[in-house]
Amino acid sequence: MPSLATLPFLATISRLLLRSLPFIGDPKVIGGPKAKAPNQSFPKGALIMRWSQYFLYTSREVPADAEVISHQLMSRAGMLRKHAAGIYSFLPFGLRSMSKMMGIVRRELDAVGCQELEMPVVQPAELWQESKRWRKYGKELLRVKDRHGRDFCLGPTHEEVVTDLVRRNVKSYRQLPLNLYQIQTKFRDEIRPRFGLMRGREFMMKDAYSFHADDTCMDDVYQAMHGAYSRIVEACGLDYIVVDADSGTIGGSSSHEFMVLADTGESAVIRCKASGYAANVEKAVTKLETPEAPASDVLEEVATPGLTTVEQVAKHLGVDPSQMVKTLIYEHDGGIVAVAIRGDREVNEVKLKNVLDAEWLRLADAEKVSRATNAPVGFAGPVGLSVDRLIADTTTQELKNFACGANKVDAHLTGVNWGRDAEVTEFADVLMVVEGDADVESGEPLETFRGIEVGHIFKLGTSYSEAMNCNFAAEEGPDKPMIMGCYGLGIGRTVAAAIEQNHDKDGIIWPLPLAPFQVLLSALNPAADDAVREVAERLYGDLETAGYEVLYDDREMSPGAKFKDADLIGLPLRVVVGSRSLSNGGVEFSLRRAPQEREIVAVGDIIERLGRALEELS
Ligand code: ATP
Ligand code: MG
Repeated sequence: MPSLATLPFLATISRLLLRSLPFIGDPKVIGGPKAKAPNQSFPKGALIMRWSQYFLYTSREVPADAEVISHQLMSRAGMLRKHAAGIYSFLPFGLRSMSKMMGIVRRELDAVGCQELEMPVVQPAELWQESKRWRKYGKELLRVKDRHGRDFCLGPTHEEVVTDLVRRNVKSYRQLPLNLYQIQTKFRDEIRPRFGLMRGREFMMKDAYSFHADDTCMDDVYQAMHGAYSRIVEACGLDYIVVDADSGTIGGSSSHEFMVLADTGESAVIRCKASGYAANVEKAVTKLETPEAPASDVLEEVATPGLTTVEQVAKHLGVDPSQMVKTLIYEHDGGIVAVAIRGDREVNEVKLKNVLDAEWLRLADAEKVSRATNAPVGFAGPVGLSVDRLIADTTTQELKNFACGANKVDAHLTGVNWGRDAEVTEFADVLMVVEGDADVESGEPLETFRGIEVGHIFKLGTSYSEAMNCNFAAEEGPDKPMIMGCYGLGIGRTVAAAIEQNHDKDGIIWPLPLAPFQVLLSALNPAADDAVREVAERLYGDLETAGYEVLYDDREMSPGAKFKDADLIGLPLRVVVGSRSLSNGGVEFSLRRAPQEREIVAVGDIIERLGRALEELS
């Protein structure tokens, strides 16, 4: 690998570091729902801006790779610009919204006793070797070498660094619990960066880590963080649900995801309205009725020439696909495994990976399949396999006299029974739940829908503290490893999710707490019309004095183009000064949410009108 100094990463790294500097804004007063003062988010000097001088260039062009509306609108509204796949600059207009999001996050986390710190983007390999993730994390971890040939990575997450920090400073139960957070740029070399800020490679995340002496304390802090996350997502005006989630490569016992509902979301969520059950499809469970067993328990081989699908074979054998077992051969870091599942269902590979405690998992190639089954791909069955393990889904446990592949070309077996004909290593839930399956608690059909995972919280247990010797002196008895929790929230992804949920065909409709500015003040033909210019300039000054966040569209361009831009960038409140409005007695006021409902308001009353509108929107 070339040295760090010769790589473009150096530029990336210095930018990452710069980007991690604290952001403007007083977090304690941002966007509080009952806040009266309009100047809630930015210090004086950063409240107002003339568009003619602003680094804000809108566009009609939709980037070719912008598949989702938030990406399209963020690009067109001049919030971001792409440099490489998943790598963006946030331009001033976009950064203002991100800063507001960060302000909300700080307010809510500070309120539950979480302390902000800043950890390095560039992390030494030794820490990752201690946790064993240097090998486990795979290709998402961008590894680099410094000039001395030492290994580093760009932090995709900070469990290792924070555990190192805490083990060196916290020695006693008296110093616990501890809850630390940062808002910082992460780098993950995602296999498929897409959807703009939703799945970037370099992206801004809030990550928090808590340390505890016992489980009760862990549970309390987990609940407090759960509450803080709910308040953050609610403050952004988002429609969301919290779902049970898989703990993934990070490990741990319990985890929840905060899902913003959106058709374009990458996550599939399962929900039962009757019981309130909600889970990521990767984790979702159901109960299935066991189908009636075919009559004959005699193990027989039946010719099935040219029949390749489960449906074709089932029809030929006169059984239902649910009375069949299909067998898939996987390979993983622990060897070759066969998975038996009902013929009408699919394997959930996330569940399977967890059952196997595997670092990686994939369907075996043709050669390995033929070695395991003694037949080409497509004829596998559980009887007479040569594999390391045979995992059978729990919904096959009660099946009797079932049909399955015969490990032989163009043949199937009928009358098969577990135990007598095939030895299962383990029955385990590896079933992919689908819409309409029964909820375990209520028995009602489960619904599926799409969601954007904006936040993810985990109870980590002691896996990191044990691996890295992060121990404390307990009140009694020997030293113990600390119990840990971790809590991630995507800043850019949440802003993008807010746009997914708040837009129309013309552009963004900012929820007030995330709006880059509260007010768009627009002057129509200001150069040609002295009265318009004078009123607009005066209002601009007055609004600044009154503490509003104002973008002043003083540009020389056609009123039509200005209205189009106004809709596109979507600021919540709009004040238009034009010759027509002045001759009608004032300026035109409207809300981005209802652009057709315009009011003429006397110039002297507009500040009061804006104040009322802000309160209504808060
Ligand atoms: P995903 O399943 O979407 O890859 P993850 O489980 O890898 O997410 P975490 O490690 O839990 O994500 O990260 C915490 C939060 O960081 C996520 O909830 C999400 O909001 C954000 N996030 C994760 N990966 C990305 C990314 N590539 N781009 C933007 N935000 C991300
Ligand atoms: Mg991920």
